[in-house]
Amino acid sequence: MSASSPFPHLLQPLDLGFTTLKNRALMGSMHTGLEDGRKNFPRMAAYFAERARGGVGLIVTGGFAPNIEGWAKPFAGTLSTSGAAARHRPVTDAVHAEGGKIALQILHTGRYGYSPFCVAPSRLKSPISPFTPRALGARGVERQIRAFVRCARLAREAGYDGVEVMGSEGYFINQFLVTHTNQRNDEWGGSYANRMRLAVEVVRRIREAVGPDFILIYRISLIDLIPDGSSWPEVVQLARAISAAGATLLNTGIGWHEARVPTIATSVPRGAFTWLSRKLRDALRAEGIHTPVITSNRINTPEVAEEVLSRGDADMVSMARPFLADPEFVSKAAQGRSDEINTCIACNQACLDHAFSNRMSSCLVNPRACFETDLVVRVAPAAQRVAVVGAGPAGLAAATTLAERGHEVHLYDAAPGIGGQFNMAQRIPGKEEFAETLRYFARRIEVTGVKLHLGTRVDVGLLQTMAFDQVILATGVAPRDPRIPGQDHPKVLSYIDVLLHRKPVGQRVAVVGAGGIGFDVAEYLAHGTDLGHPSTTTDLQAWLREWGVTDPDVQRGGVVRGHWPPPVRQVTLLQRKPGKHGAGLGKTTGWIHRAALKMKQVEMLAGVNYERIGDEGLFITFGKDHQDGTVLAVDTIVLCAGQEPMRELEAPLRAAGMKLHLIGGALEAGELDAKRAIDQGTRLAASL
Ligand code: FAD
Ligand code: NAP
Ligand code: SF4
Repeated sequence: MSASSPFPHLLQPLDLGFTTLKNRALMGSMHTGLEDGRKNFPRMAAYFAERARGGVGLIVTGGFAPNIEGWAKPFAGTLSTSGAAARHRPVTDAVHAEGGKIALQILHTGRYGYSPFCVAPSRLKSPISPFTPRALGARGVERQIRAFVRCARLAREAGYDGVEVMGSEGYFINQFLVTHTNQRNDEWGGSYANRMRLAVEVVRRIREAVGPDFILIYRISLIDLIPDGSSWPEVVQLARAISAAGATLLNTGIGWHEARVPTIATSVPRGAFTWLSRKLRDALRAEGIHTPVITSNRINTPEVAEEVLSRGDADMVSMARPFLADPEFVSKAAQGRSDEINTCIACNQACLDHAFSNRMSSCLVNPRACFETDLVVRVAPAAQRVAVVGAGPAGLAAATTLAERGHEVHLYDAAPGIGGQFNMAQRIPGKEEFAETLRYFARRIEVTGVKLHLGTRVDVGLLQTMAFDQVILATGVAPRDPRIPGQDHPKVLSYIDVLLHRKPVGQRVAVVGAGGIGFDVAEYLAHGTDLGHPSTTTDLQAWLREWGVTDPDVQRGGVVRGHWPPPVRQVTLLQRKPGKHGAGLGKTTGWIHRAALKMKQVEMLAGVNYERIGDEGLFITFGKDHQDGTVLAVDTIVLCAGQEPMRELEAPLRAAGMKLHLIGGALEAGELDAKRAIDQGTRLAASL
């Protein structure tokens, strides 16, 4: 790679001796749902082929179980027979036809299995599965090792370039490593040499079975983030033994699934854990061990990947979700077009949240992910003149997809900039990544030639004058009026006043409505973002302190008590329904928001009736009988009571006989999010 390459370290080939990877980017393993079900193999082939075409150095599939005991859930993808291996052929052939390389991940979930057949070193139920595992006898352990080996042999038969043995994130092999889950006293438990025997045997015997010219990745847990997790000397001892047993690459994992520290959410600083892969790489190099170390977690741009590699934190970078967001991540970087990359904003909304609720994964910013054969964007048979009213996520997706297909597109927004509500979302501490989506669409508008008209409030007359063939209304939403007596009091603000217009907010605040926006506003005000307090997402040391993450050399598992600074304001978050706040938040991120508000001492009141607002504050009662009346003596009341569709243009446009489509919030405000808005915009545009 020449010195003039935009990303010389990232794009440098990696020589593995028997084969060479064309660059240092690994598409990390992600469970998408494509693994589960025979009918999905053609889709999986298209999905991975598109990523191979985009130039990624090595792909790792989602996890496949080596046997029924290793199932993540009943009938999860399993590779244990030659018949099953044959079904993988179209996948490996499609990737190779695009010049790519692909390894199959062998995932045995142990006590994390959502299945009655799950097994583990000891009979200890995990907090994330309702099933208590069966403790394996010595023969049972032997059977699991043989299943791993058989799976690797079959992967080779299926045409894979290698396998990844999943040894981190608290899965089966990881469960043997620590006393938290391994309380055996036979040759597989007790001393660390015994506890790591399973990991080493699996790698040694796989290498023996597949021969020297097959990529064997072992994913090692660098920091377990659970009590009684591995100590640092144990991590290094394992890495040493795994290298000696025949691993080609050491991929790294951060935190068990049951850990109460966020590890990949959008509020985690970029590259937050590369200091640990650096620590491992340095320790191994000092002993003359040169097994390449792969780093991971919250690396989502080529710039960050390059920085991490140039610092010597790792030999290769694993990115998983960024390849859902943009299959052309590497080729765009290589062509000096990194500003055109559709960046993963780490929201988890369409990938992990779907995977954990048994739905096919996709991507909020790229609805084609895992739907490559279904959502196809083709050149339009005849170009039309189309108006898109509203440049929020729905309108942006529609306008740029239409223009990409060759239509003449005029995109209007009354605001001075694009983005709609994302302009507010990106101001929430921990949601700074949302700005990347606006950067992406701004560039995409230029590249596709959308004609952008900002500061233009559209009316029927304007649309008629321009003689459009079709009109798309993407005008979004307006805040719902909660009709609380006295709400015209100067103490009362809407979330738009606070987040967009930055109106001053007092010391004691009541937030009315505990949906996604109420939570965000509470976080913003308790943190003091409006008062200039920087977000910990851009301050790694502060973030590590808050969540109690420490060096595993100091404390086993690398987790201690967190230290949160006192809140800047006294915030009360209210909802009318009884029960837990934030029940409707994201499956994999809701707990983080709840924990953060708890640490910021936000008071949560449920089952509330809003009686009236006056000089003294907000008067509330509780329950159906309006009991226990009390006044919240607050300086400011912020209304976050949901939203209503904004579509006053619909009726006059229909009356004028215009061909009209509604998308995003304009169509339906209930449970609206950017995932639905972008999906609707893209699908409509692909079909016109
Ligand atoms: P909008 O984003 O509302 O855009 C509509 C646009 O139309 C606006 O720019 C408006 O100016 C324009 N417009 C309206 N009328 C006219 C007219 N007559 N002429 C010209 N222009 C007009 N969603 C998530 O998925 N995840 C999150 O984490 C998340 N966090 C959020 C945090 C906050 C604080 C907020 C406020 C929202 C958040 N959302 C989140 C919601 C998400 O932003 C919305 O679901 C999404 O923006 C809806 O997209 P839309 O295009 O339908 O409408
Ligand atoms: P929301 O999630 O529908 O929440 C509205 C809140 O207002 C609820 O707590 C509701 O609960 C309350 N409410 C409804 N009607 C009311 C009334 N008449 N008077 C008083 N309170 C009332 O809507 P939102 O918070 O405005 O968010 C809009 C959308 O943005 C959401 O659908 C969400 O998907 C998206 N968003 C997502 C995230 C995310 O992290 N994924 C973050 C922000 C926003 P009670 O009726 O119980 O009081
Ligand atoms: Fe990234 Fe969100 Fe897309 Fe998942 S859904 S890949 S987290 S942008």
